[in-house]
Amino acid sequence: MAKHIFVIGGVLSSLGKGIASSSIGLLMKKMGYNVVMQKFDPYLNVDPGTMSPFQHGEVFVTDDGVETDLDLGHYERFIGIPLNKNSNSTTGQIYEAVLKKERRGDYLGKTVQVIPHVTNEIKNLIRKIGKDNDIVITEIGGTVGDIESLPFLEAIRQFRMDVGIENSLFIYLTYVPFIKAAGELKTKPTQHATTKLREIGIQPDILLCRSERLFNDEIRNKIALFTNVQKSRVINAVDVATIYEVPKVFMQANLHEKICEHFHLTQNKIDFSDWDQIIDNIKNSEKEVTIAVCGKYVEHQDAYKSVGAALIHAAAANRMKLNIKWVDSEKTFSSEEIEKQLIDVDGILIPGGFGVRGIDGKIGIARYARENQIPFFGICLGLQIAVIEFAQNVCNLKEAYSSEFNEECQHPVIDLMEDQRYLEMMGGSMRLGAYPCKLKKNTLTHKIYGRKEISERHRHRYEFNNKYREIIEKNGMVISGISPDDFLVEIIEIPDHPFFIGVQFHPEFKSRPDKVQPIFRDFIKKAAKLKMNK
Ligand code: GLN
Repeated sequence: MAKHIFVIGGVLSSLGKGIASSSIGLLMKKMGYNVVMQKFDPYLNVDPGTMSPFQHGEVFVTDDGVETDLDLGHYERFIGIPLNKNSNSTTGQIYEAVLKKERRGDYLGKTVQVIPHVTNEIKNLIRKIGKDNDIVITEIGGTVGDIESLPFLEAIRQFRMDVGIENSLFIYLTYVPFIKAAGELKTKPTQHATTKLREIGIQPDILLCRSERLFNDEIRNKIALFTNVQKSRVINAVDVATIYEVPKVFMQANLHEKICEHFHLTQNKIDFSDWDQIIDNIKNSEKEVTIAVCGKYVEHQDAYKSVGAALIHAAAANRMKLNIKWVDSEKTFSSEEIEKQLIDVDGILIPGGFGVRGIDGKIGIARYARENQIPFFGICLGLQIAVIEFAQNVCNLKEAYSSEFNEECQHPVIDLMEDQRYLEMMGGSMRLGAYPCKLKKNTLTHKIYGRKEISERHRHRYEFNNKYREIIEKNGMVISGISPDDFLVEIIEIPDHPFFIGVQFHPEFKSRPDKVQPIFRDFIKKAAKLKMNK
């Protein structure tokens, strides 16, 4: 049977439970175990698809087309394994399932209650994902003390009773703040948070204590004494320069050893050299490259989590230090302002987005990149913007627009496809998840991927309007990627430009530090090269 690791958070949010869980996943995987990961989100939304990026950050999409919490992006980037619908469940989903069963009469007239019906549903989800895997890491969203996470904590408390201590491990992430006035690290929040967890019936087996500074033995002893956790299992998760260093911190603290010990698993040697190289590239590269990311959520960078990660991976792979210049497309629309913002950047990226706000700024930015031969990478909405701009200013279709922004526009070069059978197949209007795409020979994209067919993940409603394919191609934009049935335009490029690519999918979802997404890699490479020649 699978060994289950539960990652719980105390004291406050934003301590990096997702990164901590992912780092544990990487270490277990590097020891040769089959790892799978899962997140429970305690909110009532059925999935994060309908939640604003301003509030909730990016919606991460899996191959099987599920809109999930952005932590799944961290999981995939660290453990390098594509996850699916079993890896993210929300309270909303769980209640929906329980209520459906109730309506169907499955509970045979019993009173339906949080315990045992909701908790059983949660336990089933944990068990289900454990099949065929050695290690399951389950992250419980929220912070201990929240009303919302109680059913999940209760479920995992029961789960330990069901499977035994040797098959379940509770890891608790807490915070040890440094109080400047006292000049000391303080253990009280960790003590109280652990008491709170014990009240719920869970005694943590391992503590991961986040802190700004390394703590000494005295602090460790104190935490161990008050929390009832063995001293050797109180691990100091000290702040590091890049999230990719966290597994190393855990490894140096022998966390993997403690986990194996607990589960009676063989502790295999970990080869960390590939990650060491990545960390070195991120931290110690001397040459810099500056990429403008132009969107409307730039003040909430969590909205572009995977784009930021993919850029970091790509810069590291080119041994470049990455500077991201976040450009607010709502504020940047006059040509003077665009030039002012973009004059010193080496590449321009327009990421995905929804709705009309900031659109004209983005069209101006795409034009600036095209006319000034600045490497350009448009993702999803970014492709649509590039097509609109090209239609308006090169094909002379002045009224070209997307029907998303103006239903009545004269030339909807980006439009909803009523007859699109893919959409019907998905049972909704959003094209979600992985789709295959054929690449056209002798194009830049083909050269970049070095393959004839690729698969990337989608999340959008609108498509390139085929009625305009001829005029757009005639004017020099090349369709370098298309669906296998030649129907859906997936990638465009402009050959008469050093690097101008737009993709209808989200390639950032599949970029990993040790397996960099090829378009990101070559976009950075080109930006860096042109910078050198300046
Ligand atoms: N709003 C556009 C659409 O729905 C683009 C979506 C996106 O960038 N993810 O087609």
